[in-house]
Amino acid sequence: MVSTSRLSVAVLAVAGCVAIAGSQVQWDTAAIEAETMQHFQALLRFDTSSPPGNEIRAVEYLEQVLKREGIPYQVFAKDPQRPNLVARIKGNGKKRPILVMGHTDVVTVDATKWTFPPFAATRDGGYVYGRGTLDDKDSVTAGLMLMLILKRTGVPLDRDVIFMAEAGEEGAPEFGAQFMIDNHLSAIDAEYCFAEGGGIVRTGGKVTQANVGTTEKEPRPIELIARGPAGHGSVPSKNNAVNRLSAALARIAEWVPPLQINETTVAYFRTLSTLVAPDVAQRYRDVLNPDPKVSAPAAEWLLEHQPQHWSMLHTSLVPTIIDGGYRYNVIPSEAKAVVDVRLHPEEDQKTFLDRVRAVVNDPSIEVRWWRDPYRPAGASRLNTEAYSVLQNQLKAHYDATVLPMMGTGATDMAQVRSKGIQCYGIGPAVDSEDAGKGFGAHSDQERILESELHRFVRLQHDVVLELARAR
Ligand SMILES: [Zn+2]
Repeated sequence: MVSTSRLSVAVLAVAGCVAIAGSQVQWDTAAIEAETMQHFQALLRFDTSSPPGNEIRAVEYLEQVLKREGIPYQVFAKDPQRPNLVARIKGNGKKRPILVMGHTDVVTVDATKWTFPPFAATRDGGYVYGRGTLDDKDSVTAGLMLMLILKRTGVPLDRDVIFMAEAGEEGAPEFGAQFMIDNHLSAIDAEYCFAEGGGIVRTGGKVTQANVGTTEKEPRPIELIARGPAGHGSVPSKNNAVNRLSAALARIAEWVPPLQINETTVAYFRTLSTLVAPDVAQRYRDVLNPDPKVSAPAAEWLLEHQPQHWSMLHTSLVPTIIDGGYRYNVIPSEAKAVVDVRLHPEEDQKTFLDRVRAVVNDPSIEVRWWRDPYRPAGASRLNTEAYSVLQNQLKAHYDATVLPMMGTGATDMAQVRSKGIQCYGIGPAVDSEDAGKGFGAHSDQERILESELHRFVRLQHDVVLELARAR
């Protein structure tokens, strides 16, 4: 492979950084990378797409590896096919534990769209291809390698290090994170946790920024139901449910919910403004301006050009499902739409539905929550030891500026944060160009750079060791 020599140079350079930090750990790069790849490919080859999940396939593999190594673990399951595994390396208990998480389920695939089969873990041109390469068997593998390395090196620790491989992250946390915090919190309770929900951005092959997930929006879809008299399609009706629903959705599309900021987004846009071209930097500064005359045009520009950034600053409402009628010449008595609402963490949830109803401005349309809350809102602090260790280590490994980030999507960190655990989203470096080419997470050709998987394994190890090593 062409990239091998470059890879080993990069890793050796990083190893130097760690030695300066005072770690005694000998890092056998070749052996660790070979073992990482072996576990990574093994995990990718289990089809754990959810639904139905069948995460037991991955858990049985992890059990066998941990057992061989003499690392204690427990398995907790609401559904025996969808278990969660928790392993622990003991420290002296001076400090509270660190929890490292990775979810074993993946989203479903349309196998006909894949160049390389989705569960073959094909290595090609410096990449590994397969469902779960970015989301989230990279984290599962990094968590497993962390446990193996900590056990083998036997470095004395001031705190326990816990690894959880949880089920059901992809839309079914009732089997995974929610089940664990409701029923087995003591098995995973910690001061800090690290999980997916952040990562390094590369552009043109160069690292440009390191995102650390510190908060995220709360998914809370709503449903609109329009009702009216059924009738013959040949006779127009002012009360046609389809017309009423369409008008309501059009009014929602026009509505701009208020701009909201918090500790994470202020730090994010301020830092980002130091990294980009002056005209864009001005928009990032403007959007934080308390004067709406300044912030509103900047927000409008974001909506047009950087909708991801707009979404970090607003509750978003995106219609995703429309359902009404069953034949062309029958006016249906009911038409429904689902709107994917991502509530800003600062959103006033008690009044939100009433505000949507006011926007819809049609009392005949019912507006209600489509599902119960399942990802509680929360944020992790930026003034913690864990956050500053992340800043140091990301600088050492990637020479990257760290940005605290609000995820517009949702992760299991929401559950864990709701118990007061300070959670930080981290992940391997991904090329910003990759998603547009169809290689991103959840895409039809998910892939990861091998070199970046290995760099991430090392990063996570060094972060945890710096926080946990006995002083
Ligand atoms: Zn994920």
